[in-house]
Amino acid sequence: MAKKHKLDTKLIHAGEPKERFGGAVNTPIFQSSTFEFSGQTDYHDIRYIRLNNTPNHLLLHEKLAALEGAEDALVTSSGMAAISAALLANLKQGDHFMAHETLYGGTHSFANHDLPELGIECSFIDGSDPSGWEEKLRPNTKVIYVETITNPLMDVIDLNTVVAFAKEQGLVSMIDNTFGTPINYRPIENGFDISLHSATKYLNGHTDIVAGAAIGSTEMISEVRHKLNHLGGSLDPNACFLMQRGMKTLSLRMERQNQNSLKIARFLEDHPNVRKVNHPGLESSSSHERAKELLDGFGGMVSFEIDGTVDDSNTFLDNVELFINTASLGGVESLATRPSQTSHSGMTQEEREEAGIKDELIRLSIGIEDVDDLTDDLDNALNSMG
Ligand code: PLP
Repeated sequence: MAKKHKLDTKLIHAGEPKERFGGAVNTPIFQSSTFEFSGQTDYHDIRYIRLNNTPNHLLLHEKLAALEGAEDALVTSSGMAAISAALLANLKQGDHFMAHETLYGGTHSFANHDLPELGIECSFIDGSDPSGWEEKLRPNTKVIYVETITNPLMDVIDLNTVVAFAKEQGLVSMIDNTFGTPINYRPIENGFDISLHSATKYLNGHTDIVAGAAIGSTEMISEVRHKLNHLGGSLDPNACFLMQRGMKTLSLRMERQNQNSLKIARFLEDHPNVRKVNHPGLESSSSHERAKELLDGFGGMVSFEIDGTVDDSNTFLDNVELFINTASLGGVESLATRPSQTSHSGMTQEEREEAGIKDELIRLSIGIEDVDDLTDDLDNALNSMG
């Protein structure tokens, strides 16, 4: 794929077969667990679905790498498969790493509970205040881990300083770019070593598969691939097909989701029954200036505190009609959830309070519907509270 092509063109044409299989415009699904031996000398090169190297995988790797301007990429059976394999590929017993304090709940739990059981310790840092990072460094610190837009408070931390700090201290820098997407932020071009995705979300965009991705240099991805091959988190070819199809409309979807979410954030900010709104596109956001500098769009996620109690938040969730009351995000349909009950229920109450995640906080994943219908739905549900 020629480097000169723009992102919108790469979404359609990168990672597509050079010679079309039987003339097919779309890549067929190679639903074959194993492939005829063709002289491979390395276990990891044997063609087998678990080794993530069927034609469906390889083309998807090409597309993902092209989108984020990287040498290589790897699809995985879920976002958590990509995150856990990338961390385990770079951390061993006795190592230490640093991570921003508000992370996706599953990642937070993995860092805080599973990795310590393997003798790997994590120190949480305030990613927006680099002055405190150096004192958290240890001689055995190996990795720094952050997210592009933090979940669920929608902060954009000092990503350029994270990259500079990692280079200065010889750390591997990893970023979960799920909320960013390659449309709004391209981590590898900005100096990160590994970009990670829950492809379940925006990359696929249609709420019909669970998938993940790790993107980076040939060397970095090869380490992650070897770890994943042993952990077994491969993506089924049918899910590869759906992901490849979904990704072709990523740019169109993100354009609408970027627009809709900003309009909804502004609408909520003016609503009398709303106490606080979190969205990096709002001038009131402490991340706004940084987000403008770093991102090409502010993303499709909004969170807000209802001016009321947890019961009021639950009433709101019962009363929305277009918004579906569920966790997850990044699909074409709008969703609403209470993170303390769903995505962040793996954190203790104390951990959530420390991170500023209130029990009444509502998180919205904004879809591609007509924005006036969405604001009407929110208005009705907000006005129906106690
Ligand atoms: N990263 C982020 C930011 C997420 O929101 C999620 C899931 O909600 C994950 C990672 C985990 O992804 P998956 O559910 O595909 O394993």
